[in-house]
Amino acid sequence: MSPPPKPDNEEARLDALYSFDILDSAPEQGFDDLVRIAAGICGVPMAAVTLIDRDRQWFKAQVGIEHPDPSRESSFCAHAILAPERTMVVPDATRDTRFADNPLVTAENGIRFYAGAPLLTREGFALGALCVVDDQPRDLAPFQCEALEALSRQVTHLLELRRVSRDLSHQLRERAWYEQQMRLYQAQLEQQNAELSEQTRTDPLTGLPNRRAFAAALAGAITRASGTGDPLAVAVVDVDHFKTINDLHGHDEGDRVLVALADMLKAQAAGRGMAARHGGEEFVVLLPGATLEEARLQCEFMRQSVGLLPIGLPVSVSIGVATHRRGDAAEDLFRRADQALYEAKRGGRDRVVAAD
Ligand code: GH3
Ligand code: MG
Ligand code: MG
Repeated sequence: MSPPPKPDNEEARLDALYSFDILDSAPEQGFDDLVRIAAGICGVPMAAVTLIDRDRQWFKAQVGIEHPDPSRESSFCAHAILAPERTMVVPDATRDTRFADNPLVTAENGIRFYAGAPLLTREGFALGALCVVDDQPRDLAPFQCEALEALSRQVTHLLELRRVSRDLSHQLRERAWYEQQMRLYQAQLEQQNAELSEQTRTDPLTGLPNRRAFAAALAGAITRASGTGDPLAVAVVDVDHFKTINDLHGHDEGDRVLVALADMLKAQAAGRGMAARHGGEEFVVLLPGATLEEARLQCEFMRQSVGLLPIGLPVSVSIGVATHRRGDAAEDLFRRADQALYEAKRGGRDRVVAAD
């Protein structure tokens, strides 16, 4: 037996074969049907679609072959692919020197007749063959040979279609994956944006709203108060001699005082208004609905609460408070509260002054 030589383009041919991702795939109706039609038209008991792998012959579909032989050495189709443009016909294998001593031929009821039409890709690679086989010597009529070749082209079409549909579904899966990544990425961005915008509104040391957030809240409160005519007060709270606290006890201790004060102001403003850190050791409190006298009393309560804070240091605050007048802009209201604070400082600190 002369084992089939390898085609000159063997490596490229194998690459082409592997690109179809067909080896060891499950049986498929389309290939099975073509094999049956081939056997029927040629009037033989056996037919197959074979693919010639590097060291084996693999059957994608077959009919009538009891034990498909995986050896490339004894494969008839491995010979057929050597002349990819032609159908290889072996009328009687016992009379063909290439096959006479082939175990598939010498076996009981062995192969006598073989015809194989190579599966030729558009690029010219023969991947395997559509073959018809009989255990009796015979020949093919021209119409049978043409039909076998036509069916072999159908097998190749089917292989190509299969590859296209696999690539498409691969692309769809990839697209779905990218879309999911984009959605995740967008959600992360939105989360980061929300955090950033929160950060731009919050004082990092005390967690209170910062000056920017206070300005927005004050503008909103003034618009509402102007509409309803309800009173609205603003208090400016400044720590007395805070520089001395820093100087005597250190900056960290100063920070601790600011945090304790912020917590107290936050608790007192909760549900009624808003406390914010205006900058440094200065806080602002928005008191919607409070008349000047009510606001002054609330500020007095705040001032006394500072003295009771358990911070182990003598800390006091001065507070200036003012109420909104018709036509006041935010700056006007704030300026009057700030002037009242200045009065409180000038008056000796640790006190509340209401702007009249
Ligand atoms: P006054 O009673 O007139 O308000 O005197 P003061 O010392 O409180 O005011 P001054 O404006 O002279 O000093 C404020 C100090 O607050 C100066 C600054 O270093 C300090 N300070 C501002 N921000 C912070 C902060 O975040 N942490 C700490 N520990 N100190 C701060
Ligand atoms: Mg101060
Ligand atoms: Mg100050």
